[in-house]
Amino acid sequence: MDRLRQGHGLRVLVVSTPIGSLGSGRGGGVELTAAGLVAGLLGRGHAVTVLAAAGSVLPPACAAARLWSESGVDQPGWQHRPASTAVEIPRQALLPCLWQRAWQEQAQFDVLINLAYDWLPFWLSRWFQTPLCHLVSMGSVAQVMDEVIEAVAAWRPERLAFHTKAQAADFSLPAPPFVLGNGFDPDQYQFCAEGEPVLGWAGRISPEKGLEDAARVAVQLGLPLRVWGLREDEDYARALELAVPPGSIDWRGFLATPQFQAELGACRVFLNTPKWNEAFGNVVVEAMACGLPVAAYARGGPGELVREGINGALAAPDDLDGLAAAVERAAGLDRRGCRHWFLQHHSIDAFAARLEAWLEQVVRLAA
Ligand code: UDP
Repeated sequence: MDRLRQGHGLRVLVVSTPIGSLGSGRGGGVELTAAGLVAGLLGRGHAVTVLAAAGSVLPPACAAARLWSESGVDQPGWQHRPASTAVEIPRQALLPCLWQRAWQEQAQFDVLINLAYDWLPFWLSRWFQTPLCHLVSMGSVAQVMDEVIEAVAAWRPERLAFHTKAQAADFSLPAPPFVLGNGFDPDQYQFCAEGEPVLGWAGRISPEKGLEDAARVAVQLGLPLRVWGLREDEDYARALELAVPPGSIDWRGFLATPQFQAELGACRVFLNTPKWNEAFGNVVVEAMACGLPVAAYARGGPGELVREGINGALAAPDDLDGLAAAVERAAGLDRRGCRHWFLQHHSIDAFAARLEAWLEQVVRLAA
């Protein structure tokens, strides 16, 4: 609080995901979210330390951040377990190591940001002396997580931020949610004025991402589908290949952002077909940053990010014919409008301004 009053930046500790090192892809969208968040805070004059799994790498835009690491076994992802599942912490787990270190070092910081969708850090909120706030990275996937998130909301609603309204609507909150969106470095995404007659899809290759719908629509429209992403679920990926005509999917692998965006820009339309309440959908905005209009289901974050006629077109959830029609509408849009919408709403600068407002409120209310 004193630092705020004196006009100094905040000293922020960002505690990363306990699934994979930053740069491995195993953390999904949280990895890029962390990079945008750190670069955005540094850009506004805050001092940032990142606590993450050993082997983590931060992009050059985060070079001024201090990186601390801990080793341990990954947490299992919540999204692949039944809703009634119990909290699980593996032997020699990374998660408690991260939070033990955060506990020991907390006095050096004005505020801590948790990026992990895990029970332990939410439960710890009340016991930390330095205010601990959470950027919630998924919607509702397990009852025990709903309960711990809702308990923080009931105690100190300002300690939670969400990526979209659609995501926050999964939880019972006492006050309107703080919606942060997300932020990406415009210089990392090259605008591509024209696309080839090819469709694009990107994300973890996992059932909740619904790649099979994109593949079926691509076949229906007679267009090739290029796919980027980590094959998180090999069985699902193999079953999917058998369900569509051979060669329908052009697997491009998991690429680092510079190469990923260069290939993505060449597509005419980007498809996003989640089967769950996607919290945000980084890939949707990354595609727009390259100039791609997006055809998506009106569900979750993508349903909120896609603005019909401006940056893409929407279809009713799980309606394949509707999605094919949305692809055709999206293909006719001006690609400059997509890039412009991205710059206005989800550039790092736009994101950092929202982020700073959130953190300042957390620090003020904790004083
Ligand atoms: N991604 C990547 N390289 C690829 C394909 C995807 O770095 O070849 C990244 C992409 O930039 C995005 C993440 O994978 O940040 C997927 O995040 P999203 O929010 O779309 O979904 P999540 O995995 O968090 O459910």
